[in-house]
Amino acid sequence: METYSMVRVIGEGSFGRAVLVRCKNSQDQYVVKEIQLPKSRSKLENRRREVVLLSRMKHPNIVAFREAFEADDLLCIVMEYCNGGDLLQKIQQQKTAQFCVDDILKWFAQMCAGAKHIHDKRVLHRDLKTKNIFLTDNGTIKLGDFGSACILNSPKAYANTYVGTPYYVAPEIWDNKPYNNKSDVWSLGCVLYELCTLRHPFQASSWKSLILKVCRGAYPALPSHLPYELHYLVKQMFKTNPKDRPSLHTILTSHRVSRLLRSHL
Ligand code: ADP
Ligand code: MG
Repeated sequence: METYSMVRVIGEGSFGRAVLVRCKNSQDQYVVKEIQLPKSRSKLENRRREVVLLSRMKHPNIVAFREAFEADDLLCIVMEYCNGGDLLQKIQQQKTAQFCVDDILKWFAQMCAGAKHIHDKRVLHRDLKTKNIFLTDNGTIKLGDFGSACILNSPKAYANTYVGTPYYVAPEIWDNKPYNNKSDVWSLGCVLYELCTLRHPFQASSWKSLILKVCRGAYPALPSHLPYELHYLVKQMFKTNPKDRPSLHTILTSHRVSRLLRSHL
């Protein structure tokens, strides 16, 4: 960490912490995600995969990778700092009112554009949720946290290796089917719904009833004052059969709402 000086810790994660740093030469700020390296070789490869996959991405709506290095038993990933916080914080701070429809459409269009780039690179993110979607100070969406990502069609895409956040997990995963690109679409549907209502679409007091609701695709209807396009999108993204769910390509190019979304990009 000689080229960087530490500013402060900004996040505690499942494998380590995220630290805001300043480059000693340029004075630019970055985030260093410090990951404790496990002893076992297979787990080591899992942690290193995050670096490999994030470094392959280059898109205005994905956190930009700068460099990575290993020091002692830490893997350090240096990346762009998103100083607008994450969408979870944004939602929690918004308790009293609703987001305006233009913000919802803009954020959603940008997260679809970022996620489409990931899928175009034949990678699945597998942990899309409000806590892993960041904002810059000018309000641009950046998808982050590639700690669960994997390559499409790899054995890792099977449910038994999947560790997501239950609220965002698609029905096919509970059904022990492989994780696929449409499972990411389901998770983005959950994020869109949260932006519209400030609540999770699928909520329950036990795992069993949560899974039942997800597998039935049973969610409370969106408030009727929201535009038809948002109702339609949520309905399509929550199709329980992944084959019936639109891909990100479809949502952004040929879907009934694509023109509206592209006008917000
Ligand atoms: P984990 O795999 O532990 O969830 P994340 O990559 O999601 O790790 O980072 C943990 C937290 O640190 C995030 O939820 C976020 O609050 C903060 N964070 C991580 N990367 C950035 C970044 N590039 N810009 C701003 N905050 C970040
Ligand atoms: Mg995270």
